[in-house]
Amino acid sequence: NHRIRLAARPHGEPTAADFEHDAVEIASPEEGQVLLRTRYLSLDPYVRGRMSAAKSYAAPMEIGDVIVGATVSEVVESAAEGFSPGDTVLSYGGWQEYSLETTGHLRTLDPEAAPVTTALGVLGMPGFTAYAGLLAIGEPRAGDTVAVAAATGPVGSAVGQIAKIHGARAVGIAGGEHKVALLRELGFDEALDHRTPDLPGRLAAATPDGIDVYFENVGGAVWDAVLPQLNTYARVPVCGLAANYNSTSLPEGPDRSGQLMGAVLAKSLTLRGFIQIEFVEALYEDFLRDMGGWVASGQVQYTEDITEGLDSAPDAFVGMLHGRNLGKSIIQVS
Ligand code: NDP
Repeated sequence: NHRIRLAARPHGEPTAADFEHDAVEIASPEEGQVLLRTRYLSLDPYVRGRMSAAKSYAAPMEIGDVIVGATVSEVVESAAEGFSPGDTVLSYGGWQEYSLETTGHLRTLDPEAAPVTTALGVLGMPGFTAYAGLLAIGEPRAGDTVAVAAATGPVGSAVGQIAKIHGARAVGIAGGEHKVALLRELGFDEALDHRTPDLPGRLAAATPDGIDVYFENVGGAVWDAVLPQLNTYARVPVCGLAANYNSTSLPEGPDRSGQLMGAVLAKSLTLRGFIQIEFVEALYEDFLRDMGGWVASGQVQYTEDITEGLDSAPDAFVGMLHGRNLGKSIIQVS
């Protein structure tokens, strides 16, 4: 069983030395367990947080742990009721070729219903994050302007398309010309490249009626450009801060927290952070029904960025953190 483990806690951007590759014997399942072979591994930004020692909403990984990650896996051997060899399941096998798991958290996937990789993206955790954060916190209404960055990623692309379904105008921000082109194909009304000069000016021109909902995925310079455009009573679901995940210090310059709080007060803004788990009980079934329907009908489209081979996971992961991926980042393990 080839595995990739946490060798050291990264300082800033992870490097090859932070990952250790090894191989161990494949174990057999005990009563209540299944042996799974990983087919697809999901690469997600939150894993960067778990490589650090700082406690966040999830406990950090320990040095020597197999790197965590959602997987689409095939049952190879089963000592658990309800699972047979050949079944495809959504599991949490991590960065390894095989995993032994108890079955409480496994979800059996129907390969006929949708390509199984969608369980890691548009029909899985990232799609649900978009659905729950946008609808429960953003509350988009017809005619609203909804803005989102990391807009070609699995969260952002779903946010923009769900906003359109709810009658809003979708403004997507992403890194690079090819991403801007993809946003137009996905039906975003405006698409902006945050890597070319004067994002604040271009964003102001693209949002003449201001912004009613800003779905925050990145922070940093994009947030600086968005803040002046927010309308009175704008809602800001704070989902992620990808621009900061490899940061080792605060940005230079004056402390602007007073200015931010002034804007929150003067414009009656709602900034509300969330971790998708909190909405699972209330909204997951609605999500599967709605998103399943929208994907089947083509109203929501998705893009996947699949790289072959477990060994390529560290490099693809680091690339994803600064935008090398186009769509949901996935490793095809077997
Ligand atoms: P993506 O596949 O979109 O990858 C992250 C993207 O962030 C990169 O591709 C890059 O896109 C963008 N990015 C990185 N640095 C910067 C920067 N300095 N300025 C602007 N954009 C930057 O990831 P996901 O769709 O999986 O996740 C999107 C966000 O949602 C992340 O912040 C993630 O942590 C968060 N999240 C939160 C959850 C929750 O429960 N709260 C659950 C799941 C995800 P580009 O090239 O376009 O700049």
